[in-house]
Amino acid sequence: MQSGRPGQKQADSPLDKTSAAHGKSLSSQENPRIRDTAAHQRRRIPKARRRKKGKKGEQAVSNFQQLKLDGQVEAKPKSKRDDNLDEHSDGKRSQPAAEQRSGWTKSRTKEERDVHKGRQRARRRKAERPEQKQLCIPRPVLLYIVSLSRPRAIFLDRDGTLIQEKEYLHRPEEVAILPGAGAALRRLRKAGFRLFIVSNQSGVGRGWFTLDDVAKVNARLAADLARDGARFDKIYIAPEAPDQPSRGRKPSPQFLLDAREEFGLRLEESFLVGDKMMDLECGWNAGVRKSILVRTGYGREVEKSGDPRLAAALIVDDLPAAAAWILLNCSGGL
Ligand SMILES: [Mg+2]
Repeated sequence: MQSGRPGQKQADSPLDKTSAAHGKSLSSQENPRIRDTAAHQRRRIPKARRRKKGKKGEQAVSNFQQLKLDGQVEAKPKSKRDDNLDEHSDGKRSQPAAEQRSGWTKSRTKEERDVHKGRQRARRRKAERPEQKQLCIPRPVLLYIVSLSRPRAIFLDRDGTLIQEKEYLHRPEEVAILPGAGAALRRLRKAGFRLFIVSNQSGVGRGWFTLDDVAKVNARLAADLARDGARFDKIYIAPEAPDQPSRGRKPSPQFLLDAREEFGLRLEESFLVGDKMMDLECGWNAGVRKSILVRTGYGREVEKSGDPRLAAALIVDDLPAAAAWILLNCSGGL
């Protein structure tokens, strides 16, 4: 005998019995144990296949096949997409065609597929990138361009060039900068030149004063020039007497070579400014572009001596005139 109210459907399964016991049917949202198979299938089946497997799609296909059999419609030529479908696999895409299209097989591991996809992305990026022409620069030209990045320098004698010549100066209070020297150095530095002092101080070697006295004089000089915006990169002092062995006493080019190594200078585009012949010789021995004689200090006497070597030097009135000539002849290439 059938139990329950009339018209109520008899529950067969235990699940249905539970639903019936509560007097209502449970949906998949209310009971997570009930799987919504339709939604699950929609997620798993591709869209194209879903259309064919759908209820309306099946009905439309069967109607179309019936019309074809009746001869009312002509069979359409197979499209390229249909070529990839295996007619015996009920709409499923044949595995070889899918492999050929995607470029990978199911037998590959995940790592292999990731590598393959990465290569595909790289190929796509390369195809999208506009063609770039490689710039070929000859090696000599490249070396010249690189050398242009190295700084140039001005090597300056101290006594008679930067400050008034006073025999064996060793008192800071006696330092007197020549007119226009500070402004000239500032212009040279602003143009990109490195500034160095190269000075012989034989009074130390003769025992008349000490290196500490020389340092105090140099500090006073640097402080006075700093007020004009001038600054030196390094000061080289040769304290030996003329009869003593010396590494850097002018006309030795050693200090200039040391500066080239330390600061990466271009000596062939650098200059030396001094008031004695040994200053000029120092620049020539180092291979600077030009040794410049100023008429301050002992310069005028040297000019009057008529030494034939002066033909290779540039003779100007003072340091500002030397700076003006350098800036006029070296305006480019810094
Ligand atoms: Mg001098």
